[in-house]
Amino acid sequence: MELPSVRQALRLFGRAAILRCPNCGGGPVLKHWLKLRVRCGNCGLRLERGEHDYFVGSLMLNYVITGTLVLVTMAVLLVTMWPEVPWGLFQYAGPAAMLVLPFVFFPFTKLIWLAFDLMLRPMNEEELEWHRTADSEWSTERTAS
Ligand SMILES: [Zn+2]
Repeated sequence: MELPSVRQALRLFGRAAILRCPNCGGGPVLKHWLKLRVRCGNCGLRLERGEHDYFVGSLMLNYVITGTLVLVTMAVLLVTMWPEVPWGLFQYAGPAAMLVLPFVFFPFTKLIWLAFDLMLRPMNEEELEWHRTADSEWSTERTAS
């Protein structure tokens, strides 16, 4: 397996970070904040690449990003404000952030997940054509061409 260059990887993740299709940089890719479209509106890539439960890994990614951000923020606040630590803020804002941030990060982590996948399993013309012509949201069977 050949890994992409740093530049190619940055392009994939950069597109995901601005909520564009990691494959083509176009869109639209969102139906609404919590729902991706079936296909990229520009290149026709089915965003789950034809696989059920494709985005399960993005939920783990979402939780890791949220947890890391909340922990680092709390650690920085703890160290900088010691000994006048606002424990009440920690008690309520920490759990609130853990509940709210996954929704904020939701579309980003899905597209970052897709970017990871495209980095490790690059898109080719054959697969893209399969996505464009597939009539169902999920199908791993490719029609003979
Ligand atoms: Zn696209």
